[in-house]
Amino acid sequence: NKSDIGLIGLAVMGENLALNIESKEWRVSVYNRTVAGVEEGVVEGFVSGRAHGKKIMGFNNIEDFVNSISQPRKIMLMVRAGNPVDELMEQLYPFLSPGDILIDGGNSNFEDTARRVRESEAKDIYFIGAGVSGGEEGALHGASIMPGGSAGAWFEVRPILQSIAAKAEDGSPCCEWIGPGGSGHFVKMIHNGIEYGDMQLISEAYFIMKHLLEASNEEMAAYFETWNEGKLKSFLIEITSKILKYKDAGGDYLIDKILDTAGQKGTGKWSVINAMELEMPLNLIATAVFERNLSARKELRMEASSIYHREASQKTYLAEELIKEIYSSLYASKLVSYAQGFNVLKYASDKYGWRLNLASIARLWRGGCIIRSAFLNEIAKAFEEDRHLSNLLLAPYFKDEIVSALPFWKRLVAVAAKEELPVPAFSSALNYFYSLTTNNLPANLVQAQRDYFGAHTFERIDLPRGVFMHENWIGKANSTKSGNYII
Ligand code: NDP
Repeated sequence: NKSDIGLIGLAVMGENLALNIESKEWRVSVYNRTVAGVEEGVVEGFVSGRAHGKKIMGFNNIEDFVNSISQPRKIMLMVRAGNPVDELMEQLYPFLSPGDILIDGGNSNFEDTARRVRESEAKDIYFIGAGVSGGEEGALHGASIMPGGSAGAWFEVRPILQSIAAKAEDGSPCCEWIGPGGSGHFVKMIHNGIEYGDMQLISEAYFIMKHLLEASNEEMAAYFETWNEGKLKSFLIEITSKILKYKDAGGDYLIDKILDTAGQKGTGKWSVINAMELEMPLNLIATAVFERNLSARKELRMEASSIYHREASQKTYLAEELIKEIYSSLYASKLVSYAQGFNVLKYASDKYGWRLNLASIARLWRGGCIIRSAFLNEIAKAFEEDRHLSNLLLAPYFKDEIVSALPFWKRLVAVAAKEELPVPAFSSALNYFYSLTTNNLPANLVQAQRDYFGAHTFERIDLPRGVFMHENWIGKANSTKSGNYII
């Protein structure tokens, strides 16, 4: 009896995915490279351990592994992103047949995936780059899966991938076809970026509660718990309340013992780099990434904080009012973050010709993944109601939400500034909102400066768009050229 699917890579994600697939009645072959003395016994350990008695066959030889899978073969790679994926593809090609399907479930760079799709298709092999979110738990019990690449293979892998995906509240699987090329991995990357933003926003809410209300961990946990019953209902809010209440073996709150230096694996950074390439603002995620960078510079911050001294706060805040302001800031800033993230998806889709369905993407993030939340339903609805919506903040529902939150949001940012407490993501979101809604920005001065020193030209408000003028600002020549400007 041949297997329905093969899985390569038996680290945390691979093991759990293999068990998840098997639990849905598929037969699975597994393979892990063997490096003498280091990873020897990985396959044996899994097959005789967690996979004992299950329809999972283990292989240390890649040819035997490939031959154990029924055709067209479906082989999922859950290995470290980067070169290992290319190396494995080269090892697999000699044993594959036309029509076989490779699925890369790792966090690969979307441009690598686009290249791999082209390379594989040139060999008549299908290639799917599938972003998988949900960590260990999602891999075992249901992940959010974002497959893209060779569309011709989708109907073959769809039954398996949708069976192992998380189910949203309405029962639909959190796995839908994303689009061609590297689009699946691009969408996963933006998902991760949004995750960075959400985490930073929640941390700012915690920080203000802690410093201006002097709330206890239990009190803060209770606020988050209440929020988790309303519009902010989400996995990250839920775990935040659990984290705040958690006590270590010694009976102390663990949160108070964790060093304030945040790590990262790079997907937030990639989101920002790609947004910059597309020339699309992704301010909130950029702020979240930079805040992690600054947090990691602990020694520098310790030195700086010993040089500058803060004025002591009067702390005359009414809990009820301040909580309303923090809630509004978190909610409105989150809206801004998703508006920016979806805008990047929209522009990438236009640039690369992916024809992304933004409503469908919002829906498949409702379950399984780290950013799962109730509010993604509203985002899906907004894109369904207006397929050409240029920015989520222009959708009638979100406009009303922002208008209601604004008085509280701006008051909180002002209070934090007065109290000398950093809320970089709350204020970045507020400033993006103000810029977005300003008809005349000071970019006229930027254009004047660029033309003054660099003859970069400008458009005039009293002439049609597209007519570029250059002014002889210093009056030294009839027509100042870019060769004689002043730096
Ligand atoms: P790792 O990212 O730590 O990858 C380890 C696996 O990659 C091992 O099976 C390892 O084999 C294999 N590997 C490394 N180098 C090579 C190579 N040159 N050739 C063949 N195999 C190699 O494991 P995870 O399970 O955490 O993640 C797997 C993928 O899923 C990654 O791309 C990750 O980014 C992504 N991912 C991870 C999530 C998580 O929460 N951990 C969530 C979502 C996606 P060996 O045992 O021999 O070292």
